[in-house]
Amino acid sequence: MKTLSELVRPNILGLAPYSCARDEFKGRDAHVFLDANESPYNSPFNRYPDPLQMKVKEKLARVKGVAPENMCLGNGSDETIDLAYRCFCRPGIDNVVAMEPTYGMYKVCADVNDVEYRKVLLDDNFQISADAMLSACDDRTKIIWLCSPNNPTGNLLNAVEIEKILTTFGGIVVVDEAYSDFNKARAWRTRLAEFPNLIVLNTMSKAWGCAAIRLGMAFASKEIIELFSKVKYPYNVNELTQNFAIQRLSDAFEVEKWVRTIVVERERMVVAFGQLPICEKVYPTDANFFLAKVSDAPHIYNYLIDHGIVVRNRNNVQLCHNCLRITVGSKNENNELLAALRQYL
Ligand SMILES: *Cc1c(COP(=O)(O)O)cnc(C)c1O
Repeated sequence: MKTLSELVRPNILGLAPYSCARDEFKGRDAHVFLDANESPYNSPFNRYPDPLQMKVKEKLARVKGVAPENMCLGNGSDETIDLAYRCFCRPGIDNVVAMEPTYGMYKVCADVNDVEYRKVLLDDNFQISADAMLSACDDRTKIIWLCSPNNPTGNLLNAVEIEKILTTFGGIVVVDEAYSDFNKARAWRTRLAEFPNLIVLNTMSKAWGCAAIRLGMAFASKEIIELFSKVKYPYNVNELTQNFAIQRLSDAFEVEKWVRTIVVERERMVVAFGQLPICEKVYPTDANFFLAKVSDAPHIYNYLIDHGIVVRNRNNVQLCHNCLRITVGSKNENNELLAALRQYL
């Protein structure tokens, strides 16, 4: 790996972060706060939230087995995707490499930041080849984006190939594990100590059932986290979100029950969907959705809309011709989908 100071944008390396009012007295006791031009009314929401979200991080540390100093929280993991570009990629100069097809935000954030986005097509089993990804890189490639399980294909990426990329590539490797709760593979966040160039993304939006609160996280070395923390907006995670996340994280047992139920439903749906006359193939999945090749994706998509059921049409995505991406819902929702499709002529 190149050194971090070789990888970081020079303006970010030298950045003096915004200093919050509360930073300046840190650690000492106080009870009269006249430092931040807040209102004295409507407590507790009159006060700015903790910019480093320490209480949330302490909860997360227990749930995820990662130390608070190795976490940066964002307004959804989408914010942490953007942060990676803003920390490492010089607009108009640097590039990133990603697999194709994958999650759309890597490309959107590349475009917003004026960073070249290089795509490497997955193979027929939706797997990556480390060699193919590495040959797409040059000395201005700062980040390789990996998503495992991948969206929209649903499969885990081969861990041997990921490890090869981590040990061979000189830049940053992001492994987006938004769906890691839905499978038993070893999570990459448990291997941060082995790979100083690894950033792992997790989110409260999927297994944790909290898409509306907007809370995502990046796990990485202390040095990378310090960079992210200095570039992010100081109060990027609001107090309502922090409070709700603490509450949700205290109920990990409930969430585990949800996940077990969804996985059982997933296995049932993969079989039942595969038996539908319209279905040509259900691809293997390790997430809370599955990708299926059907006879006529656009037509079936519209048919389902007419029945009040929305799935994701991936027909126009490379390697996903005539594919629908279907989220595993509640038992009733899944049955409604199956019933509608059994009537499709
Ligand atoms: C859903 C999803 C996310 C989650 O984004 P949030 O901003 O945290 O809601 C991240 N990555 C992938 C691959 C996803 O599918």
